Amino acid sequence: MPLILIAEDEPAIADTVLYALRSEGMDAEHCQLAREVVPRVRAGGVDVVVLDVGLPDASGFDVCRELRGFSDVPVIFLTARNDEIDRVLGLELGADDYVAKPFSPRELVARVRARLRRAHAAAPEAGWIRQGDFAIDRDGHRVHYRDRPLDLTRYEYVLLAALLQRPGAILSRTQLMDRGWDSDAESMDRTVDTHVKTLRGKLRAAGADPDPIRTHRGLGYAIEI
Ligand code: CA
Repeated sequence: MPLILIAEDEPAIADTVLYALRSEGMDAEHCQLAREVVPRVRAGGVDVVVLDVGLPDASGFDVCRELRGFSDVPVIFLTARNDEIDRVLGLELGADDYVAKPFSPRELVARVRARLRRAHAAAPEAGWIRQGDFAIDRDGHRVHYRDRPLDLTRYEYVLLAALLQRPGAILSRTQLMDRGWDSDAESMDRTVDTHVKTLRGKLRAAGADPDPIRTHRGLGYAIEI
């Protein structure tokens, strides 16, 4: 049975989450303080950590950073404010996902399940992860579409990999840039647009119809798989 560790200082939220996970056949443990998380994960057996950003003794961001020093256990943040979400989306922190408060227990359970599935899927097949018509090998920087390799430039790969990390989520051009470029802000938006255009061309040539990449005017891009 998968074990989920929840670090959350608000009892009502913690109770709701514990109940939801347990009634879906998962094992769930709870702690209230940031300093309890690392020792518990070190002790072993934790499959996913659900981490409140606003813990009383330290931020969830600090905890995540410390976890990443020794563990790749999936981390899902619980965030309460928009500026927290922005930081999570930067993904500098090595978080795998986030859920914004207020959230439905069902939504959180779905996210936890997705992380568990992905952890399982990633293990046996040396890095290939299937997502809809796509399969991505993040170690080898390769993407297949409908089981055929896409011949991508480095930038096209970076864009597609970033979009596939959170299907359906809109990533701004700045966020996309952060993943793999080192040019100045001036040319940034146009650079992303140019590479998205060539990437779309290759997907079209591979039979993608309709175009899985959506343009969100003034916001950025998202992929539908
Ligand atoms: Ca809190």
